[in-house]
Amino acid sequence: MARKDTGGLDDFLKGMGVDVVGVADLGEYKDDRLWDEAQKLLPGAKSIVVMAMEVFRETVSRVTSRALIGDMALRDLYKANTDVIDGLLDWEGFKLVKGLHAKGYKGLLLSAGGAPYDARFLEGPLSYKHLAKAAGMGILGWSSLLLTPEYGGRVRLAAVITDAAFNASPPLYMENPCIECGGACIRICPAKAISKPEDGDDYRIDKYACSSYYTASGGCAECLKVCPAGRVSG
Ligand code: SF4
Ligand code: SF4
Repeated sequence: MARKDTGGLDDFLKGMGVDVVGVADLGEYKDDRLWDEAQKLLPGAKSIVVMAMEVFRETVSRVTSRALIGDMALRDLYKANTDVIDGLLDWEGFKLVKGLHAKGYKGLLLSAGGAPYDARFLEGPLSYKHLAKAAGMGILGWSSLLLTPEYGGRVRLAAVITDAAFNASPPLYMENPCIECGGACIRICPAKAISKPEDGDDYRIDKYACSSYYTASGGCAECLKVCPAGRVSG
């Protein structure tokens, strides 16, 4: 298929200071909820640029849901680290929106740490991991996490919706690591929230069980810590 002339915008994406960038062409999703939700947020939207940055393995490995009162709260390190990563993602997204404005386009930043979110149903109008999948950046693992080829599930995400027509990222061809792994996340989840998916689903998770456990214990990343996906070691 012929590539669109984006007036140098695609080159702008190459210079972004994030680990992975992907683009979803909304024109390919006109019968999908993704199209409707994007149009609600930015009428005339044509593309979504998704940005990812790695969370270091050393940081993830220090998170525990079993901290004792008075003990060092190493999971606070995770929060401090991901706050920095979220800020960097948002800064790159902010610069992208400024660049779009300079060329006469609109851009709406969906921040890494502050996306629109409906706490009643534990979901936002646009799920970042589904956006990243649409942008060819990864697949959805049995844990329900986005699994990228580079970092597995150890990524934070942000996105920019725009009326600029970027070229879509190529489809991702990636072996599903869950088949070989066989469900380490299912076995370790303390809330028993994860089950093996059936009927062509990517994953099956009781997000209320996960959320309740996560809130009551002050944090949990057991499914992420145990996940072998990703080729970049920490
Ligand atoms: S722990 Fe294993 S089954 Fe679970 S998401 Fe990771 S690779 Fe897939
Ligand atoms: S974050 Fe913890 S409770 Fe939630 S699915 Fe992962 S392991 Fe289970």
